[in-house]
Amino acid sequence: MSDKDKQSLAASAPSPEAESADAALRQIVDGFLHFHHEIFPQQEELFKKLATAQAPKAMFITCADSRIVPELITHSSPGDLFVTRNVGNVVPPYGQMNGGVSTAIEYAVLALGVQHIIICGHSDCGAMRAVLNPDSLEKMPTVKAWLRHAEVAKTMVHENCNCADEKESMPILTEENVIAQLQHLRTHPSVASRMANGHLFIHGWVYDIETSEIKAYDADQGRFLPLDGSHPIPVATPKARF
Ligand SMILES: [Zn+2]
Repeated sequence: MSDKDKQSLAASAPSPEAESADAALRQIVDGFLHFHHEIFPQQEELFKKLATAQAPKAMFITCADSRIVPELITHSSPGDLFVTRNVGNVVPPYGQMNGGVSTAIEYAVLALGVQHIIICGHSDCGAMRAVLNPDSLEKMPTVKAWLRHAEVAKTMVHENCNCADEKESMPILTEENVIAQLQHLRTHPSVASRMANGHLFIHGWVYDIETSEIKAYDADQGRFLPLDGSHPIPVATPKARF
């Protein structure tokens, strides 16, 4: 076989990357077909009800990380959670950025009337690791700019914790980031107003991928407590004033 023949054969055969991309897409489509033919018919009544209206009771803001599945870990059904996800479960402070997160918050609070907003961080978060190692973001200027909203958490950890290494810093940074994003959340007028009149409650959680445990921020105690059903549910909402 001539070199030319070999080249044209190589060009027509799918590359390993293309084959693996095909397999990944096939798995997603097969999953959809399974849902469509097997799962959907079992819950047809629910989907009929949801076809024209939604009334979720809670908004769930979490990281885009593929290992976090809000409906799975809260055993929720379609229609239960209004979910917004982004790198690092960030909530930009009001007025700084009229982007997707701010829009979703305003819509959830004012149009849907959700009663709870949960901000959920997680273990082994790549965004938190990047906050600790900003050099890793040199080729990702958009991610770098976005994670400036988590800068306050990094300063908190650097100045207040005597962490020996990244392994020690990561869980504390992850918790501090959730607290920082709760503070940003409170700068949104729709949120502040409904919290002040006792119609909206905010929560800060951290989910552990390996154990499935959740810790929730207790604003009164200023620390995260296990969400294990043995205590009252910790809340991050200040007292209502109206
Ligand atoms: Zn993450």
